[in-house]
Amino acid sequence: MADHEDNDLNHEYRALVERLRVAFDSGVTRPLDWRRGQLDAMKSMLEENEGVIAEALHADLRKPPQEVLLGETALLFAEIKHARSRMERWARPRKVHTPAIAQPGRSFIQPDPLGVALIIGAWNYPLQLTLAPLIPAIAAGNCAVLKPSEVAPYTSKMIANLVPRYLDRNAFAVVEGAVPETTALLAQRWDHIFYTGGAAVGKIVMKAAAEHLTPVTLELGGKSPAIVDDTADLKSAARRLAWGKALNAGQTCIAPDYILVSPGRRDALIAEMKKQFTEMLGDNPLASDDYAAVVNEKHFERVAALIAQGEVAIGGRTDPETNKIEPTVLLNPDLDATVMTDEIFGPVLPVIESDDLDASIEFVRRGDKPLSAYLFTRSRASEQRFLSELACGSVCINDVMMFMSNPDLPFGGVGMSGMGQYHGQAGFDRFSHLKSVMKRGRFPDPSIRYAPYSDFKTKLLKWFA
Ligand code: NAD
Repeated sequence: MADHEDNDLNHEYRALVERLRVAFDSGVTRPLDWRRGQLDAMKSMLEENEGVIAEALHADLRKPPQEVLLGETALLFAEIKHARSRMERWARPRKVHTPAIAQPGRSFIQPDPLGVALIIGAWNYPLQLTLAPLIPAIAAGNCAVLKPSEVAPYTSKMIANLVPRYLDRNAFAVVEGAVPETTALLAQRWDHIFYTGGAAVGKIVMKAAAEHLTPVTLELGGKSPAIVDDTADLKSAARRLAWGKALNAGQTCIAPDYILVSPGRRDALIAEMKKQFTEMLGDNPLASDDYAAVVNEKHFERVAALIAQGEVAIGGRTDPETNKIEPTVLLNPDLDATVMTDEIFGPVLPVIESDDLDASIEFVRRGDKPLSAYLFTRSRASEQRFLSELACGSVCINDVMMFMSNPDLPFGGVGMSGMGQYHGQAGFDRFSHLKSVMKRGRFPDPSIRYAPYSDFKTKLLKWFA
């Protein structure tokens, strides 16, 4: 891109941010009624355009309509409903204790909107991941610019068409584009940058944010392990693991990335998983309308190449015409190969033998802290150990991914899987500054903290402290 085009983008986006800042400073986003109105408008947008939304997601990922509901719109409806009904409570000043030394006085925390936020979405749930952060941004009283992922171009265009028709154009805007556009957006001064995507770009985002000391939320990925212990119900574990890997063809940041199971139970688990995949997607998943495709040729080539890095126990077939890859279970993967060093982000699932929970926890801890981790067990003791010994973003015991359905559970990674959480109140707080306020009474005003100091005042201070 030529320098002058770069400059044009910079000018255009600077003007856009300034325009939204004028709207924010005007106070339009402050009244709760306005925020409720915007959330209602977003709900109407999703309801009235169900067909358009399904078409765009099918064009990008061949997403089955059921998965559009399950992975995209249902979560948005739930978050809108949750925020709408609790927002007033979240926005209220939160009273806290005032110590003796500050008496007479009152202390409270007042949530303040941050200002103008930049929300950068990812392609795998391209509608949900762009709009879900906008819900708390609205609820907390912010303006925002959305940058949907160019890797899902139909959904990106659809968002760019719909959002200005439903939401307040003075407060919200959509910018479409790829690296040059995102780079120019990142050069602007924001009050918060909310990014969803891979860690490599996460670092670019954080570096750009550092220029203006802008706070960031990074919703990243990583390798989410699933441990199946010797007490687990294999049938239920197999069913849920198969679902978690088949959904959106494994292109889910919290999809089970690999399985750890003891040698004695491995083959029974695999036999059960094979049954479950067939039950869900038939004998030829490549031909199933209930099964999504890999997003594009580049990712298709990347994921297909992983199949050769282990022994195929289930699946293994691919179709370059449709970019579909069968749900594929691999045995004895090469631990130094990319299938085990990088996030898979596709329908390939390596199974690794691990003698017991100790060995499994040790295995997971050798890598980065995962975004999510799953344990299938009937042992309370194993559950406790798993929860206390493994650092990760979120956990499901005896299932995968379902914590996403509960807006009361904050969502976000830790370490290399991300920083900052959202959904429900966590999202509201993320897009707020929790302003500390102390309001003092004027009388009495003892002289203890004022000079001239004396031994008596020191004694009193020590007593108060
Ligand atoms: P992506 O390619 O869609 O990129 C994400 C965003 O970054 C896009 O909007 C894109 O335009 C922008 N971008 C790309 N390159 C850039 C650059 N050089 N400079 C500035 N911006 C740039 O998505 P991806 O990175 O392929 O996403 C996959 C990753 O995202 C996986 O690791 C997955 O686990 C993670 N993910 C995390 C979550 C979560 O909620 N934690 C959700 C979905 C995906």
